[in-house]
Amino acid sequence: MKTILTGIRANSELTLGNYLGALLPMVRLANKYSDEMNVNIFVPDLHSIISNVDGDLQYNIVRTIRYYLAAGLKVNEHVHIYRQSYVPAHSELCWILNCVATMGEASRMTQYKEKSEGRESCNVGIFDYPILMAADILLYSAEYVPIGEDQFQHIELARNLAMRFNHRFNEEIFTVPAKTSEQVKFMGLSDGIRIRDLLNPEKKMSKSTASENSKIMLDDEPAKAAKKIMSATTDSLGKIKFDMFNQPGVSNLLLIDALVTNTPLQDVISTWVGETRYGDLKQKVASDVSNMLTEFQASLANITDNEVLDLFAKGEEYANRVANAKLLEAQKAFGLR
Ligand code: ATP
Ligand code: MG
Repeated sequence: MKTILTGIRANSELTLGNYLGALLPMVRLANKYSDEMNVNIFVPDLHSIISNVDGDLQYNIVRTIRYYLAAGLKVNEHVHIYRQSYVPAHSELCWILNCVATMGEASRMTQYKEKSEGRESCNVGIFDYPILMAADILLYSAEYVPIGEDQFQHIELARNLAMRFNHRFNEEIFTVPAKTSEQVKFMGLSDGIRIRDLLNPEKKMSKSTASENSKIMLDDEPAKAAKKIMSATTDSLGKIKFDMFNQPGVSNLLLIDALVTNTPLQDVISTWVGETRYGDLKQKVASDVSNMLTEFQASLANITDNEVLDLFAKGEEYANRVANAKLLEAQKAFGLR
């Protein structure tokens, strides 16, 4: 059986970008394929500690899974939900892969460059986390890893490490994950989704951005979220057109509207052809986002922590079994066992 795998760091509340770009696509895939594929949804808590955690990490971890359930995830016997640090094989395989990866390739990761930029000192975890991410994927022979566009380079790294390892030992120990172009196709998209920062639409929306009005959080009061949309940066061209390069602010609003209303982007674009009033567009998006949040928050309130803890108990038993078996193969290849 093939495996789909995904994880989102539980460092804080999630943004609308995380929801539309990662969480919702994953929930849709999980519900579509969980009869025929394993669906691994894990909380990468070891990735959390490379940077600040807002609030209580334990609380955030459980909330992240509550978000998936609130987004409509259906759990059957093929859906496995687990915490990374409860499966020690992740750290073990990370070390082994550290000895396969090169400094050059790890240094080329743009996420590392961005996250370390301007810092006086940067922890080694920030440098090394893409290798841990490769371990997260390879331990479960995951073929599909639905993620946002900012993570594509890390998938390529995981592929390269798997191929290099297999080649070195002349054995198909690791399944090579699908190419990012195939990942995108598998997600039913033509491109990776990148929701932009509301105030600086040339950048992506990120939960770690300090400015409150740049991002919509899943726990924002719907009225507050609507206000943020109303104050989003647009441009002075005076035409409603989807053109991420020249009109990233307006295009971002069109994209958000398509995703929150589950309407094909082309249909949303067509509705606005020839229109010029950005205020009207903002009103529409603000109202759609606020309706979406109202509904989402109501579902979230119905999901208990105990439900999530039960899922972890089952999922971690499964994950340890699968991951330990793969780790043993890698240890044997190196002569460690
Ligand atoms: P941070 O600022 O801490 O890096 P982030 O918002 O970038 O936070 P991550 O934890 O790095 O979030 O990523 C979680 C998932 O959300 C990943 O799959 C990533 O591709 C996706 N994602 C993050 N930001 C966006 C965005 N603006 N649009 C679409 N997908 C996104
Ligand atoms: Mg990020």
